[in-house]
Amino acid sequence: MPNKKTTTNAGIPAESDEHSLTVGPDGPVLLQDHYLIEKMAQFNRERVPERVVHAKGGGAFGTFEVSQDVSQYTRAALFQPGVSTEMLARFSTVAGELGSPDTWRDPRGFALKFYTSEGNFDLVGNNTPVFFVRDPMKFQDFIRSQKRRADTHLRDHDMQWDFWTLSPESAHMVTWLMGDRGLPKTWRNMNGYSSHTYMWINAAGEQFWVKYHFKTNQGIDFYTQQDGDDMAAIDTDCHIRDLYEHIAKGDYPSWTLMVQIMPYEDAETYRFNPFDLTKVWPHGDYPLREVGTLTLNRNPENYHTDIELAAFEPSNFVAGTGPSPDKMLLGRLFSYPDTHRYRIGPNYMDLPVNRPRATTRNAYAKDGPMRYDNPGDPVYAPNSYNGPHAAEPEHIASWEVEGSMTRAAATLHPEDDDWGQAGTMVREVLDDAARQRLVNNIAGHLLKGVSEKVLLRAFEYWRNVDKDLGDRVEKTVREQQAD
Ligand code: NDP
Repeated sequence: MPNKKTTTNAGIPAESDEHSLTVGPDGPVLLQDHYLIEKMAQFNRERVPERVVHAKGGGAFGTFEVSQDVSQYTRAALFQPGVSTEMLARFSTVAGELGSPDTWRDPRGFALKFYTSEGNFDLVGNNTPVFFVRDPMKFQDFIRSQKRRADTHLRDHDMQWDFWTLSPESAHMVTWLMGDRGLPKTWRNMNGYSSHTYMWINAAGEQFWVKYHFKTNQGIDFYTQQDGDDMAAIDTDCHIRDLYEHIAKGDYPSWTLMVQIMPYEDAETYRFNPFDLTKVWPHGDYPLREVGTLTLNRNPENYHTDIELAAFEPSNFVAGTGPSPDKMLLGRLFSYPDTHRYRIGPNYMDLPVNRPRATTRNAYAKDGPMRYDNPGDPVYAPNSYNGPHAAEPEHIASWEVEGSMTRAAATLHPEDDDWGQAGTMVREVLDDAARQRLVNNIAGHLLKGVSEKVLLRAFEYWRNVDKDLGDRVEKTVREQQAD
């Protein structure tokens, strides 16, 4: 079959793929060469702004299948026994930019969009069950400390450790980050966690708190710092490549969804604040229960339209699901849709990857840039012309609050502190070899341009996590400084 003919964007056959229109073969180039100008102008506008966080990533489509019965906890259709739901996953690093190596030490994003029969449901988690801060007021400052300086435009470990050591609530997450799981070998070899606590609501309207854990069926695997540094020089895109190639050859990665369920009433008296994003719920208190399996089985056909323009928003709750009082989550409910409006435009939900697939959209949202699927009349509600009208849900996610307006930390629970769970990980979860790698990773990171005053704070920070760990970090840093 002959090749198709090139056209302009208006579908008019193009006169040449090679030569601009000029006066004589040696120029000048004419402004009336509309096709040339269209090509140049289009090229200049090919990029949407990269995500301010989670810029570098990749993903795939798949299915989520429910194998167990959790209907006593949630009435959400996607979690009912036997239901299979089409979904999209996007994995990413957090602080690096679009071209940065996949193997820089960083948390990994684990963002999921489920095209459910009740509308889209998104879970925007990480490969870590906790996070660096617990109040959205600090998120912007935290990310800036991980990005680039104003003067040199370089990333700067002094700025990172300055922020972390002045923000002791970061200790659990930084322990995680500096440990083996802070550098996963592939995206297939890491778990995904909702990190936040969410709400589930069953058919009777009973409410539960829930944490989601997507456990890799490929097994956990990681790179040592040296492996990661080597790989950064060999293949900056090794995680994108690994995922794509495994799916292309039919070796589909999968994760088992487990949940921890906390009865609604437990939250108030639990030993930790269950809505604090820097804490886990120990498995001994709330055991994992299996729900189903998520399998990635279809590569994107077009990276830009399937992945770069994918807009995940934790505010997409279907009936039977809801938020919790986690302040970071409540901040993100606003922040995610807002960044999509800036990055892609106000009608980002019109794009095929973001539209609901198993339900019909009957929104009154209309007009605006790039709107191509505009609802007709009536354009307002209520109306007497058969326009859509909201059906009040039987149950809405809610919780009781009291108090006057304030800027304050959440009410403390008996065992709340910044160091305890990090120390438990160091002493009770890691073995000797993993602890030694943790010491080396922390010391190696601190040796890259951290000032003496921040170093002193860092040694104390680690001694607060675990006395022996802090002493070993200081000893390693001082010995290597002396070399
Ligand atoms: P458990 O012994 O029941 O769980 C410990 C968990 O630690 C494991 O299940 C595993 O999580 C995770 N883990 C294993 N190796 C590493 C590693 N190198 N780096 C990071 N995590 C690792 O104890 P608890 O539930 O009482 O938790 C003890 C500590 O374990 C916590 O303070 C926390 O630091 C950490 N942890 C707890 C999790 C939780 O949700 N309870 C989840 C992950 C870590 P997984 O099974 O998810 O692979």
